[in-house]
Amino acid sequence: MKPRLFLSPPHMSGREQLYIAQAFESNYIAPLGPMVERFEQSIRDLTLSPNALALSSATAALHLALRVLGVGTGDVVLASSFTFIGSIAPILYQNAIPIFIDSDSSSWNLDPFLIEEAIRKAPKKPKALILTHLYGQCADLDKIIALCNHHEIALIEDAAESLGATYKDKQSGTFGTFGVYSFNGNKILTTSGGGMLVSPDKELIDKARFYSTQARDDAPYYEHTEYGYNYRMSNILASIGVAQMEVLTERIAVRRQIFEWYREILHDISEITFMPELSETRGNRWLTTLIFEHSDPNAIRLALETENIESRPLWKPMHLQPLFKDTLSIQNGTAQKLFEKGLCLPSGTQMSQDDVMRVCTYLKMSLK
Ligand SMILES: *Cc1c(COP(=O)(O)O)cnc(C)c1O
Repeated sequence: MKPRLFLSPPHMSGREQLYIAQAFESNYIAPLGPMVERFEQSIRDLTLSPNALALSSATAALHLALRVLGVGTGDVVLASSFTFIGSIAPILYQNAIPIFIDSDSSSWNLDPFLIEEAIRKAPKKPKALILTHLYGQCADLDKIIALCNHHEIALIEDAAESLGATYKDKQSGTFGTFGVYSFNGNKILTTSGGGMLVSPDKELIDKARFYSTQARDDAPYYEHTEYGYNYRMSNILASIGVAQMEVLTERIAVRRQIFEWYREILHDISEITFMPELSETRGNRWLTTLIFEHSDPNAIRLALETENIESRPLWKPMHLQPLFKDTLSIQNGTAQKLFEKGLCLPSGTQMSQDDVMRVCTYLKMSLK
């Protein structure tokens, strides 16, 4: 059996253990410490966002964003339906009400033309919109920002998958009141688990920092007028993040190259459509994703599995989840079609062109 091709395995730069050793030497085996500061600085340098807060996960970062914005019981939060549950669960943590918005076929991301219908149908004026940039490809930001501004809805960008992607040369995650990145094990960079919250507004990040460290008041003893969370990132994991950030540019170049190889090798198969890239945007192509017009992606997935190749259906839209069977959603059928017709292909940055050829060979053999 040939070695397994995973969807998106971790890819270390080689300097992680050096930085971990430095963290050990300094004895900052703690949440917080110099490596956390360096990691946050590397995110500020990349994104040009003036404020960054390293956290235990992107889910925690989204939760803090909602909390700081004052989203609470009964408040309405609009959100991309075509996303991962980590994007949405924080709305429930706050006892708020999600309303899901379907995708458009030009970006596969949130369809801006459905936002006003969602606002009209909402039981009250939405306080925030959580917008996912799916699979590392940017959503139609200009239109979405204009509508958020017009309706005074705070934009939270879920850029968990899109670190390093740009929209009109500006980093994804830096357009909203908050942006969130993930360093979970399968993302384009990983700290084994971790997240980052960014914002142009220092006061908001200071407040999030306060909540992330148990909401301790400024007193010599532990005094609390509010409750918080234990959401900060460990200094050891931040060491991994520092080393990973050094290779982000290379990693994006390779992910994009892998996508190009897939596209070239499969170009003669007319039933295949790849996830698009909006003009004036540059995604990180975290995963190469595609849909099939006729063939059954599940059959293809199982055929690839017998060749020790991992592939995965696209995210199941939130409006089709049992958890949200009674939740309002604005649909146009796009996300459901993408889910039923789509597949994510192995896209790890250690893949060679031969590996991509191997995937394509078996993929072609399993087409209808
Ligand atoms: C991975 C992911 C998250 C959650 O990130 P964690 O760091 O694992 O909490 C949220 N949203 C999207 C779109 C993701 O892909």
